[in-house]
Amino acid sequence: MDQIRIENLEIYGFHGVFLEETKEGQIFQIDARLYVDLRPAGKKDELSLSTHYGEVCHFMTQYFRENTYALIEAAAEHLARAVLLKFPLIERLELEVKKPHAPIGLPFGNVSVFIDRGWNTAYLGIGSNLGEKQNFIDRAVTGLKGNELIRKVKCSQMIETPPYGDAALYDFLNGVIELKTLLTPYELLDFLHQLEEEAGRERKIHWGPRTLDLDLLFYQDFVSNDPLLTVPHPDMENREFVLKPLDELCPWYLNPVTGKTVRQMLNDLKNKKEADQ
Ligand code: ATP
Ligand code: CA
Ligand code: CA
Repeated sequence: MDQIRIENLEIYGFHGVFLEETKEGQIFQIDARLYVDLRPAGKKDELSLSTHYGEVCHFMTQYFRENTYALIEAAAEHLARAVLLKFPLIERLELEVKKPHAPIGLPFGNVSVFIDRGWNTAYLGIGSNLGEKQNFIDRAVTGLKGNELIRKVKCSQMIETPPYGDAALYDFLNGVIELKTLLTPYELLDFLHQLEEEAGRERKIHWGPRTLDLDLLFYQDFVSNDPLLTVPHPDMENREFVLKPLDELCPWYLNPVTGKTVRQMLNDLKNKKEADQ
């Protein structure tokens, strides 16, 4: 993807673990690569279609001066997040924070940390089969939209589905949500659990009645076999109530494990069902 590159932005800051560092301060240098689609601005020669690198430099300078951290790791982490939240056209950011005068007591050229942060696309399965189902789903969507680390929340249509698994008695309302997030997969899962709790979900029986169920289906091309977080969701290929709404939002999304598109998975499931009948 296109980039705007900033090199050796010098900022006088007060980050460090030693008292003299936070008192006297020292020079830091910042390199940044901002991943932005530059084509619209390039074609129209119009600044408002791009990200103003001057504004980014001033913003980073002010942020870096006004906040103090013991570690350059923390300075970089917080700065990257602040920039991504402030400038919505930046999809990803590579940031290097250099500390050329770090008090190491040895001759050295430079020391720095380098991080790579950005908005990641995730797909969630959402379902409810207890109480005011639509209400629980609406509240969860509002909760997702209310998190500043989540944006571009898009919902599929919700579909009524018969109970899945032996323990479920009531019809489900199911759908899929697309979003972009700065949260890691595990942080996102924690937030989903928090929303389930706020909906008063009780974990009694697997697949039993629940006010709200939020599953992480895909997170970019992230793959995990951890029982606490298995991604892509392992049972997705067998669930029409997941694949149908997913197909509405992202038919060509590739399952990073099987290499199949959502449309392919849905067609395979339909064919399998027909063959079974
Ligand atoms: P299923 O995942 O088969 O749809 P379920 O949604 O009813 O079943 P839960 O009781 O909601 O299962 O979740 C049990 C645990 O599954 C969660 O506490 C979580 O740690 C774990 N888990 C593993 N992978 C995922 C995932 N991709 N999304 C959500 N939870 C997951
Ligand atoms: Ca589920
Ligand atoms: Ca779940």
